This record gives sequence, C-alpha cells and structure tokens, in this order.
Amino acid sequence: MAADQCKHYCFQQRWARAYRDDSYHVAVDTNNGVEAMNKTLKYNYLPKGKNITLSHLVTILVEEFLPEAFHKYQKENFAMSKFYRSYNDFVPDYLQGRPRKVILHCLSRMQKVAKFTKESIKMASPGTFIVHSPSGKEHKVQFVAEDNMPQCTCKDWIRWHIPCKHFLAVFSHYPQWGWANLPKPYLDSEYLSADSASLLNHQPQHDGTPQDHDSDESGNSLEGEKMANTQLPPHHVSLTVCFTS
Ligand SMILES: [Zn+2]
Repeated sequence: MAADQCKHYCFQQRWARAYRDDSYHVAVDTNNGVEAMNKTLKYNYLPKGKNITLSHLVTILVEEFLPEAFHKYQKENFAMSKFYRSYNDFVPDYLQGRPRKVILHCLSRMQKVAKFTKESIKMASPGTFIVHSPSGKEHKVQFVAEDNMPQCTCKDWIRWHIPCKHFLAVFSHYPQWGWANLPKPYLDSEYLSADSASLLNHQPQHDGTPQDHDSDESGNSLEGEKMANTQLPPHHVSLTVCFTS
C-alpha cells in the first residue's frame, strides 16, 4: 500500500461506520448517483463504439440527457404527491406525500409503538422526552437538539436520522408533539420531502397507461382504492419510484 493511501486506510477509525461520531448529523452514505448517471449517459445516449466531438457530446448533454434526467426527477417527485395518489388509512397524514423509503421506515417502526405506554414516556422539558423501553433501556428524544436538529440516542436514529420508534411513540402519546414540531430545515430536507419547487412548471399529461401501485416488502399496497385523479407525465416509462441507499 502506498504511503499516501496509508494515511487513510491504515486507520480504521477514519472510515469504518462503527467509529462514526454519533452526533454527526449529516448523512454520508452514497447512492452512487454520479456513477449511475455516467453509466446511463455512456450506454443510453452516446453512440456505441464511436468517438464523438466535444460539441457533439455537449449537444447530447444539453438537448437530451439533462432534460430527460430532470423530467425523471420531476416525475419521481410528482409520484410522491397527494395529487398523484391517495393512501390507505394506515398511512398517517404526516407521512403521505413523502419519499417511499421514509414511509416504509416509519410504518415498520410503528408496529413497535404499541409496546410503549404513556407512563413509559416522560417529558423532561418542552420538546425533550425520556422514553423507557420494555427492555429496560432509556432513550432521550429531542425535537430540537443543540445543533437545531432532532435527535434520539438510539442506534436506529443514529443510523438513519428518520423518526425511530421512540419518536413515533412520543407522536402517539403526546399529540401536541408531532411530526410538525420537528425543525423545518429537517422536514424540508429532500430526504424527507418531495421537491415541490421542481413541479412548478410540470404539466402532467394523460397517456392512458395504467398506474402502478407501490407495495411494501410484505406486499401491502400503500395506496388506497381511490387514486388521485391525475395523469401521467410525458415520457412515461415506469411508475416505479426507485429509492436507493
Ligand atoms: Zn430512538
């Protein structure tokens, strides 16, 4: 191993997830988005086995690749919106219209909320709760911590930064402390909310294609029988919204 590589790789504390600072609230995971875009450009847009000029490459980027990538981004955001679909009753209002990954994350944790009684949750101060788990563990839930972001001391929160069962238990037993009480910068994150600004000029059109329903891992559909009376955007290929982590 080269000497410069050893500055990083030889010290596992610098790269292993197990050594990450628990208070570090910025997601550093990657979905390999740039690599995926490069692959799409290379195999779907550029002529195979041919060298092209720089101006030809720029033309493809500006006239085809970027507009279609933006349209896909709009379509995926539109697919999250309440204008596109309605949800089953078991999906709470505050989760509707959010990324599928967030909805599935919270729904899976909600199954454990019934284990928490109101007595097991104490409000230490406005927005700060001590949650006692049936296992005997105790976790501190803060709607606004020192860094102006929400925080729970459990591993689930530290890993995903999406409301854990302790947050959801507080939402359940303290209705005055709900999703809307979380800090706005956190709620407005693209990890938790659709980018509505990207849809301002979006004009969905009808192409007659049946709409797909997203299902969770157990096969349960998140959407109700009633689908919103909206139509598909142009260039429709598949309504499956892919969330990568
Ligand atoms: Zn937690």
